[in-house]
Amino acid sequence: MNTVFVNGEVIDRVDAKIDIEDRGYQFGDGIYEVIRVYGGNTFTMKEHMERLYQSAEKMKLSIPYSEEELTGHLLELIDSNQVKDGIVYLQVTRGVSSRQHHFPSKDVKGSVVAYTKDLPVPLRQMEQGVTAKLVEDIRWLRCDIKSLNLLGNLLAKEEAASDGHFEAILHRGDTVTEGSSSNAFMVKDGVIYTHPVTNLILNGITRRVIEDLCRRNAISFQEETFLVPDLFEADEVFIASTTSEVMPVIKINQQVIGNGKPGSVTKKLQALFSERKREQSPVK
Ligand code: PMP
Repeated sequence: MNTVFVNGEVIDRVDAKIDIEDRGYQFGDGIYEVIRVYGGNTFTMKEHMERLYQSAEKMKLSIPYSEEELTGHLLELIDSNQVKDGIVYLQVTRGVSSRQHHFPSKDVKGSVVAYTKDLPVPLRQMEQGVTAKLVEDIRWLRCDIKSLNLLGNLLAKEEAASDGHFEAILHRGDTVTEGSSSNAFMVKDGVIYTHPVTNLILNGITRRVIEDLCRRNAISFQEETFLVPDLFEADEVFIASTTSEVMPVIKINQQVIGNGKPGSVTKKLQALFSERKREQSPVK
């Protein structure tokens, strides 16, 4: 049986029901997280939960469980579905109320839903690298909130995917911001550059792990904006996310990056990342 978490209960997925006046459904008025499970253990769960509560605070949304309670429910769900390598998806909306733009009264409780999915690590792509398309960043100015409202991201991803690319790398004016569902990095002369944590990007958990790995391994990591021409002249480009880990980008639009193969800094980070996963997720 595939089980899901719906407002306090772990139930069979086929029995799950969402009200059509849920504000998540009607407005995208909610937030979410995607947390990795490796070998049956969660990876960076604490960081994801903290970001969820930060997103909630930024949009004045009240989550009807404490962080500890919610973490416990997710672990129960992972256990119930015997997830080995996969993800747990969690979303919280502002609840069910008659459609109106302003927030419902305080007694309307947020809706909390979670499900799990088996998802292998994309090893072949991580080894060979992927291609990306540059797409204008037309999103709103609070990309730091992990909001359910992803239309700008979806349009960008679709534009890239319909041309056969793995990811859309976004630019606001000349400045590269991030991927449509990942953070973006470039390497030049051994230094990693990535957009600073501002309202224009999501503060990725994978990005934070990478920053930490760089610090501990004397790899130069610069939170500095870089421009579209810099990207094309980079030695290496990679993207990073919970589901894609450290993913080399070997071509952007039709232009080859570096020597057209995953670069040495990217490969080093992949190795360090795998090590970190093993440390945090001992085989049961
Ligand atoms: N930026 C955006 C827009 C994303 O959707 C994601 C994936 N959630 C990321 C960055 C990477 O974040 P994380 O490493 O926490 O998955």
